[in-house]
Amino acid sequence: MNISSNPAPDASDPLEYFVLPRTVRRQVLACSALSDKKSAGDVFYLWIQLDPDGESPAIAPDNWLNVIDEAAAIGANWLVITLGDQERPPEHVDAMCHWAQDTHKMTVCLHSLESKLHPMVESLVVSLAQELTYLLVEPKHTHAFESLRERGVRVGLANPAPHDSDTACEFPYKMVFVDAGGNLYTCGLVAGEQEFFLGSVFNGSLEQITHNPQLPHSVAASKERTEDGCSGCPPLVAKYLCKEQHGVTD
Ligand code: SF4
Repeated sequence: MNISSNPAPDASDPLEYFVLPRTVRRQVLACSALSDKKSAGDVFYLWIQLDPDGESPAIAPDNWLNVIDEAAAIGANWLVITLGDQERPPEHVDAMCHWAQDTHKMTVCLHSLESKLHPMVESLVVSLAQELTYLLVEPKHTHAFESLRERGVRVGLANPAPHDSDTACEFPYKMVFVDAGGNLYTCGLVAGEQEFFLGSVFNGSLEQITHNPQLPHSVAASKERTEDGCSGCPPLVAKYLCKEQHGVTD
């Protein structure tokens, strides 16, 4: 696996907190995002999982842009989009990525579960601002994305070594997870489980949901990180990329 260096550090990227002296305050916040596992409040990551089977009711593109706006308003500066079926990816993924970057200067990670991207998605990942973009892929598929890496796309592992203690579960305190139907869960591993259901993007704001102490904001201790369910997890990936690029661990 290879990740190209970032020639133009950007303060909206948590990875850059470790190399930019002028962003000391944000560096502290970023370190908190990675290491303060118990405090609720600041949200750093928005994780959207688009339908892997193409069976969920479609959400209008404007609704997704609203979700991104709301997440940005409560502090999210990373967006991970787990792509669904590459035979027919949703057209609005293009608008979502550009909106996140152009409007909110978010770092956008496109997360592919498959070894091949739809041509539209391939064009998209090349067209995005490279200093604010990662393509996250499964470890077994890295060779399939070598040509994109050679075209300047930063390719990273979506699911770094599940049994490596440095890549243990970071817990979802700083994350908002939304599935393809607009349902919020504490994280991707427990998507679809009623016990971890937080509400719908159509019934309340992200701000209300993430700061509601009555709702679950973690995963049960009995839940352990799995290879499939945790792939693409933003805090996990951010920690791994920090370590890869800067040798930083918490
Ligand atoms: S997706 Fe996995 S690694 Fe991420 S917070 Fe949930 S259980 Fe932890």
